[in-house]
Amino acid sequence: MKANHNYEKLEGSYLFSKIAQKVRDHQNLHPEAKIIRMGIGDVTMPLCDAVISAMHNAVSEMGDIRTFRGYGPEQGYSFLQMAIHDYYAQRKIDLDEIEIFISDGAKSDLGNILDLMDLDNRVLVPDPVYPVYVDTNVMAGRAIEFMNATEENGFLPQPDPAVQADVIYLCSPNNPTGAVFTRDQLKQWVDYAREKGALILFDAAYEAFIRDPQLPRSIYEIPGAKECAIEFCSFSKTAGFTGVRCGYTIVPRTLNADGADLNRMWTRRQTTKFNGVSYISQRAAEAVFQPEGMRQVKANIDYYLGNAAVMMEALDTLKIPYVGGANSPYLWLKCPNQMDSWSFFDLLLKEANLVVTPGAGFGKNGEGFCRLTAFNTRENTIEAMERIKRIL
Ligand code: PLP
Repeated sequence: MKANHNYEKLEGSYLFSKIAQKVRDHQNLHPEAKIIRMGIGDVTMPLCDAVISAMHNAVSEMGDIRTFRGYGPEQGYSFLQMAIHDYYAQRKIDLDEIEIFISDGAKSDLGNILDLMDLDNRVLVPDPVYPVYVDTNVMAGRAIEFMNATEENGFLPQPDPAVQADVIYLCSPNNPTGAVFTRDQLKQWVDYAREKGALILFDAAYEAFIRDPQLPRSIYEIPGAKECAIEFCSFSKTAGFTGVRCGYTIVPRTLNADGADLNRMWTRRQTTKFNGVSYISQRAAEAVFQPEGMRQVKANIDYYLGNAAVMMEALDTLKIPYVGGANSPYLWLKCPNQMDSWSFFDLLLKEANLVVTPGAGFGKNGEGFCRLTAFNTRENTIEAMERIKRIL
């Protein structure tokens, strides 16, 4: 067997192991220290009642010979596709059921979608970036080009007409920066992609955190996007499904790339390599779209956004520049006094028993920045901000 040596080209995922090691060392030196983790990327609130009740019902159905379900459709059950269809219809986006593919979360499909693409494509990825976009391409042996997301462009790079990209990754609200594209900014990308014949891979995993009605929650709010974009979404952050596993990917029928029908190709890919998401998870996801479920998941997101507001207020008081927070669970702050990311990390850990995520771990443009997340408790978030105010 010959191995895929592209794996050797992957950069080590030092970031979270290095953070864990530093935190362990600090805790060993100071066993009494009450460490607060403001870098948590996972949700912490439990599933809402509407979801739990739907799961209980689904479990009971699975235990009864009259309602037991075996293999489901690889693309997902119609009841969930229709719930997603109606969710988009509220924003005047018309999707066909066969354009909606239920997944076990956005991460798998973000990797799997590369099955549809030739190796020889120019792939454009923002820097800083969610590392999955980069690593999945490196594993496949594909070269990547970075576009700069910096303070100057508000961490939202715009297309350069002089560059011919074939595949473009966009994530809004963004992980790690929390920045959100406006409609006009997204339109620039859609127009660019259509002109160049490029495909946009749009990651909307954090769309439910958008509260400003002027900001787009789906790329399909932009005219022409159904001719150039695939959208990935997930119930992980919307409804706390990080451990349940369910998401969806929209592959429009109007997507024709290089003479190929991407919707047909994706259907073929999924029916060949995927056997669907569990019935119980899909019933749980369906409950998210029902009025009571919507109200309950919104309350959880409001809680996280309330934490983000606490952090924004503290950073405003300290006059520390940042983006994100208002429509995102992430805040991306500029390390004070020209500190680099790891120096600021060390300072916060040593002086305030606080753990943040150093921006340098997300790409070269992340140097000098740190990511804070809103997924802690209100009490810890308030305490963490008090500590930052005390030491700065
Ligand atoms: N996309 C982004 C930007 C993320 O931050 C995450 C998770 O943190 C995912 C996708 C993957 O989410 P999941 O696979 O849980 O749906």
